[in-house]
Amino acid sequence: MRFGRMLSRFLLFSFALFPVYGGEPLMRVGVGKVNITPSGSIWMAGYASRDKPSEGILLDLYVKALVFENSDGSRSALLTSDVLGLPANVSHRIAENVQAEFGIPRESLMLTSSHTHSGPVLFNNLRDMYDLAPEEARKIQEYTEAFPDKALEAIRLAVANLEPCALEWGIGNAGFGKNRRKYTLEGVTNDFNPIGPVDHDVPMLKVSRADGSVKAVAFGYACHNTTLAIFLLNGDYAGFAQSHVEEKVPGAVALFAMGCGGDINPLPRGTIEQAKEYGRRLGEAVLTVLGNEMDEVSGPLRTAYREIPLALSEPPTRETLEQQAKGPNGVVKRRAERLLKQLDEKGMLDTTYPFPIQVWKFSDTLLVTALGGESVVDYSLRLKYDFGREKQWVVSYANDVCGYIPSLRVLREGGYEGEGSQVYYGHHGPWAPTIEQDILAAVHEMVGK
Ligand SMILES: [Zn+2]
Repeated sequence: MRFGRMLSRFLLFSFALFPVYGGEPLMRVGVGKVNITPSGSIWMAGYASRDKPSEGILLDLYVKALVFENSDGSRSALLTSDVLGLPANVSHRIAENVQAEFGIPRESLMLTSSHTHSGPVLFNNLRDMYDLAPEEARKIQEYTEAFPDKALEAIRLAVANLEPCALEWGIGNAGFGKNRRKYTLEGVTNDFNPIGPVDHDVPMLKVSRADGSVKAVAFGYACHNTTLAIFLLNGDYAGFAQSHVEEKVPGAVALFAMGCGGDINPLPRGTIEQAKEYGRRLGEAVLTVLGNEMDEVSGPLRTAYREIPLALSEPPTRETLEQQAKGPNGVVKRRAERLLKQLDEKGMLDTTYPFPIQVWKFSDTLLVTALGGESVVDYSLRLKYDFGREKQWVVSYANDVCGYIPSLRVLREGGYEGEGSQVYYGHHGPWAPTIEQDILAAVHEMVGK
């Protein structure tokens, strides 16, 4: 046993009497877990090609919460969820209720998702993708309306078991995430690009009780949960990874938050065996870090949240929209009809979208940067370059999954993440070329404070 490990064991035993760790008062931490698997058949999120609702369950879906309490009593909550993405309407509802019930302000609530493509649709996420029959739309509405209560219940459970805990940080590695923007003479296509950027880090935060046992492990990975496109509900590789860790570390809750994997896919993909195998590999990466010495994380946790007006490119004319509304493509048609209505009611189309950015700092021991949308991997690499890799957890798909978030490079290259996906999210066109500089300027300002 190395000295550092002996020292941390000593501290773990001693802080039951003296709740101090590394000179700082220990944070109190609680964890909660609530099953969100729909009770019956429901339309599944993420693929426009699905033509029927779910036909059963392969693996249960969960919403999980980690609540941190500073020594002054102020609290923050990290929520993770096995869904494709939380749209603004759902996040706002959760935030209002969390503020009302627990006094946790918006900046101290981080709402994340795993981006599983085998979970239920949440109403308004990928708003124009699905052509739902009234009965299916009603089920989605009901599920979406019940969702904030499940999130609240997870936080309620976590608050109930708040106790002094030691926090530790480490980075593992898993290699199955592959860049999916293949360069061809016809442009960028959705296929393996062996020379495209990736981020194979597995950032993780370990929470230990006073007796040294592991209470929770929160971890991330920058890769789409798109191994599967079946009709059985499941959390894809991230779901299997969480259950792998919970099986191997009895008494611990495992939480997964997506990184900047907008242009990353698990490849090859398509079978349940592959999803389980990627889950096992990610879970093993987490267990390897757990078995090694990790870095101490200490409070207080300070938080910041902002929605910046992210600029869209020039809006289309009414004539263009009227033409699109008559066209054969159902997705384009639904978007055009909705935008024409907006034009009638407001006299103009949106020129910006309120894009959420969140920054959490555990004193100077860990920085968590969280971007909304489906950020491409360039953001992960850039933020790690700017603020260091060793003590930073970069999260995406946080607070509002409102569209793909391309870097300037990806925007210019085009393809699905640069442009083609905008229609599914209801945006009238691509983001403006200022996207990357606007996001980075805001993150820098927030981290600097
Ligand atoms: Zn996606």
